[in-house]
Amino acid sequence: MQYRVNPRNGDRISALGLGCMRFPGPPGRPDPQQARAIIARAVERGINYLDTAYLYPGNEACVGAALADLGLRDRVLIATKLPHGSVRTTADLDRIFDEQLRRLRTDRIDYYLIHNVTSPAQWDRLRELGIEDWVAHQRAAGRIRQIGFSYHGSAGDFPVLLDAYDWDFCQIQYNYAGEKYQAGTAGLRAAAQRGLAVFVMEPLLGGRLADKLTARARRILDAAATPELVTPAAWGLSWVWDHPEVTMLLSGMAAPEQVDENAAVACRALPGSLTQEQHQVIARVVEEFARTNRVPCTGCNYCMPCPQGINIPGCFSAYNASFAHGWFTGLSQYFTASAVRTTHPKLVSNCVRCGKCARHCPQHIDIPARLADVGHRFQPGPVGWALRAWSRRG
Ligand code: SF4
Ligand code: SF4
Repeated sequence: MQYRVNPRNGDRISALGLGCMRFPGPPGRPDPQQARAIIARAVERGINYLDTAYLYPGNEACVGAALADLGLRDRVLIATKLPHGSVRTTADLDRIFDEQLRRLRTDRIDYYLIHNVTSPAQWDRLRELGIEDWVAHQRAAGRIRQIGFSYHGSAGDFPVLLDAYDWDFCQIQYNYAGEKYQAGTAGLRAAAQRGLAVFVMEPLLGGRLADKLTARARRILDAAATPELVTPAAWGLSWVWDHPEVTMLLSGMAAPEQVDENAAVACRALPGSLTQEQHQVIARVVEEFARTNRVPCTGCNYCMPCPQGINIPGCFSAYNASFAHGWFTGLSQYFTASAVRTTHPKLVSNCVRCGKCARHCPQHIDIPARLADVGHRFQPGPVGWALRAWSRRG
């Protein structure tokens, strides 16, 4: 495993971290046995950073139980996150944090993040509630080691937030298709210049830069393959690790074999190891990706559940697939996502535009409007009328 040093406290962190959000299992119920197998393999391969969050249903408890069963707590750094929208009083900070320690079966959180910050005003609100004193108290008690935030706001707001507090680290979305998206390359450099450790999330955009790449994009990568760069995932991860400002990237690995694959890439992908020609290859893939990526959904599920039962990420995935892999492929995925073969299909046309989903989307997608686009593509004219009538019957 390759390790990079947190400039703030000297922690040696594996360049590859385990994002626990995408553990296999039904929504809200990660499978404990599979999670344990993934964590065990990750530690075996040298991974020492595990990322979870209060808001990932069932996830903190699953991670805590696995680490306790495996006896691995002291071999890993645990990161989890504060759901700042749920904090109304200072007492809420204690209540939530104590629950997190209980779920994770630990007496300390190594890396504690304010979750999904989209504007400096959100930090200002927490400050007014006394979070700075609260963090200082937890640090003094040894219950929080490093404090940071995960970010999904604009490029302009990012430096403002960086300068609003003496952060130890930040976590940003970063990948070769999003150099100018959210914090972007400018934000990565700004954070590193301030001496922060920078952790990267969504390096493969929820798989859209890996197994979901178009055939045309894959051909571009295959033509330039080397023994180190065989798969689209290897290209995407290596591109992130090529940046010396990146301390660690998180990958949501869903099977032990995926851990093996990514860990092998992590061993080799040192900063500055991609050639100029390889960067040009990636630039061509970015052009191709932009052509087919109509909705920037990463499949994070933060918008779910929809009260009308609509499978929002599934519908967007089908929509993008219809441009990347052909209309019939997309339609077939849309029917599967909408369970159209059941008695009560949850079509995008069932959306009542309540707006509940869009408030939670870290990608700032206007979900009801974009679901209407999905409807126009898959339920045009008479097809839509017939499906709507069918879905409302009985
Ligand atoms: S706006 Fe539409 S998709 Fe979003 S939660 Fe409401 S009904 Fe569901
Ligand atoms: S629409 Fe937004 S919140 Fe929902 S899965 Fe996609 S990226 Fe996540």
